[in-house]
Amino acid sequence: VQNALRQSQKMEAVGQLTGGLAHDFNNLLAGISGALQLMQVRMQQGRFNDFERYITTALGASRRAAALTHRLLAFSRQQTLTPKATDVNRLVADMQELIQRTVGPAIPIAVVRMADAWTALVDPSQLENALLNLCINARDAMPDGGRITVEIANKWIDERAARQLNMAEGQYLSLCVSDTGTGMSPEVVARAFEPFFTTKPIGQGTGLGLSMIYGFAQQSGGQVRIYSEVGQGTTVCIYLPRHHGDGSADSDLAMAEMTALE
Ligand code: ADP
Repeated sequence: VQNALRQSQKMEAVGQLTGGLAHDFNNLLAGISGALQLMQVRMQQGRFNDFERYITTALGASRRAAALTHRLLAFSRQQTLTPKATDVNRLVADMQELIQRTVGPAIPIAVVRMADAWTALVDPSQLENALLNLCINARDAMPDGGRITVEIANKWIDERAARQLNMAEGQYLSLCVSDTGTGMSPEVVARAFEPFFTTKPIGQGTGLGLSMIYGFAQQSGGQVRIYSEVGQGTTVCIYLPRHHGDGSADSDLAMAEMTALE
């Protein structure tokens, strides 16, 4: 019985991981085909001046997609993933073009960077996917347009999260994505992290985005919180412990995600 239970838990985890990977992979494909479509339109108009940027965007998304399939391969071989000291300011800056392409030109994105170049110990490709997912959710919440703000900070905006993390100011950083969209009712907030919970039409939502982000934040020793007001908008914050290192060396800290399945 014990074995069967473990096996079914393992299968469930595999299903969640692969489902989530497919979801993230689809987001990246959307970014690539978006760039290609733009190039096609511009080509027909004989306008080639922005081609280099589109190519850079498509190549960046391809690289991230390759990192995703690499994760899937690593998983099937039961390898452990290794987080890296990641400069979150820089990661967001590198992603900005792809995010703008993905959400479309109608929604402006403002980025508020942290004054200091702090690092967090995370799997960078997972943090990239989390950020992209949050921005896609923000876009989906603003069918009539609005604004997205991505803010990287190191001051508490939520005392309760602070207590739960048991960390003082100066020991963590936060990555928050805000929108001016529909907001979420308390019932939706309460269920948002459940795998497969979605309020989106069939074929549009998988309900895996926030549950993946929740798992990622937990594995990284952090937290994710939702602050939302119906009719006003939503802010989702990922809190990550600050990494005190030189920012270059990889950590030998193994990710709990893989070892938990042993
Ligand atoms: P999906 O986006 O595929 O539905 P998620 O797990 O990312 O899956 O989100 C679950 C649900 O949470 C969404 O269907 C939506 O109802 C709600 N949600 C998430 N982000 C936002 C947001 N920024 N604004 C409003 N509702 C949101």
